[in-house]
Amino acid sequence: MNLKIVKDTNPRIHQPSQEVTMPLSQEDRQTILSMMDYLKETQDPAFREKYPAVREGVGLAAPQIGVYKRMLVIYYETDPETHEAVEHALVNPKIVANSLKKCYLEAGEGCLSVDGSHPGYAYRDFKVTVKAFDAIKNEDVLIHARGFDAIVLQHEIDHLSGVFFYDRIDKKDPYKKLPGAVAI
Ligand SMILES: [Zn+2]
Repeated sequence: MNLKIVKDTNPRIHQPSQEVTMPLSQEDRQTILSMMDYLKETQDPAFREKYPAVREGVGLAAPQIGVYKRMLVIYYETDPETHEAVEHALVNPKIVANSLKKCYLEAGEGCLSVDGSHPGYAYRDFKVTVKAFDAIKNEDVLIHARGFDAIVLQHEIDHLSGVFFYDRIDKKDPYKKLPGAVAI
């Protein structure tokens, strides 16, 4: 299934999204499950060939499909042989702990909603602990993430507040070095 992605040219996506009412409604469950289906499909070359406008992603937040509710999905393989993967379908995620140590993606972050180029380093916390309801596991989860995993979680959670990765890049000095920050 192809979904229409809201781009950052739409002012609404820069506004905060609403808390999801629990227990999860059938409608909200359907939404988050179709977001996960879509995200996995973006990683399939045959799907991208069929829909050339579709870009590959590792995460997707509900506001990116025009649903302004605090839900997000993350999926990427960590081992191509065993197909081991990081997979989250989070409702009302909250960062409950974080490290003072920072990190950043050396190649810069990307986003399905951003077509423009925004070079620079978006500094993130190196470690985060996230509390949420996982709609696939169907239970409350506490996620301890570090490095790349922590960056993806923070990028997607930011979307729920209307914040983009480039909002975290220093406008005057985009490649500013932060002492002690880890390059990923
Ligand atoms: Zn994004």
